[in-house]
Amino acid sequence: MKEVIIKDKQKYLKDNYPFGNVPKLTDKKRCLHCDTIITVGDYKVFKDENDEELIYCPQAPDCDGTVIDWFRVD
Ligand SMILES: [Zn+2]
Repeated sequence: MKEVIIKDKQKYLKDNYPFGNVPKLTDKKRCLHCDTIITVGDYKVFKDENDEELIYCPQAPDCDGTVIDWFRVD
């Protein structure tokens, strides 16, 4: 996987977030794969083997969780 450096993280998130409610960069989520509370703005972007960009957990590449594995923190 190749990391992609994102300049405008809020805009990238807005354009690529797979669900309706785009979180703020300061929001906290729980990544189910590494069971860690993450700050959304710390996300990383990697290209997969199909050259598709995916939003990853900040712990990537140690964690293989992506944006769909993040859950709301109450
Ligand atoms: Zn994770």
